[in-house]
Amino acid sequence: MTASHLVAESVWKTIDLHFLFGKNFERATRIVDQRGVKKISGEPSGRFVFQVVGESRRKEEYFCFAEHYCACYSFFYDVINRAEQLCCKHQLAARLAGSLGACIEVKVSDEQLAVLLSEL
Ligand SMILES: [Zn+2]
Repeated sequence: MTASHLVAESVWKTIDLHFLFGKNFERATRIVDQRGVKKISGEPSGRFVFQVVGESRRKEEYFCFAEHYCACYSFFYDVINRAEQLCCKHQLAARLAGSLGACIEVKVSDEQLAVLLSEL
C-alpha cells in the first residue's frame, strides 16, 4: 500500500487537505510515495531537519523545517513574497512522511548536523 493510500484512509476523512493545500498536496504525496523524504537527526541531541527531494529531473534535495522553512524557490516566492500558499510541497511532504513514519532515517553527529545547517 502506498503512502498516499494510507493518507487517504487515515486523514482525508477528517480534513479536506486538498482544499487547504491544492496541487501541493498531490505533489507532496507523490514525493512521499517515492520515499523522497529523509529525516536527518543529530545525536545525541535528537534535533533534526528534513531533506526532501524535488520533482524536477535534476532531483535536487532541499533542507526543510516542516513548520517554518524550506530552502526551495517556491517557499520564498509563493509562501513568503506572495503569501499564496501556506507552505511549499516539500514542507507538506515532510509533515506527511513524519506523521506516517515514511521518512528515511539518517543519523549523524550533532557536529555534522551543525555543518549541514551552516550551509543553508
Ligand atoms: Zn520547498
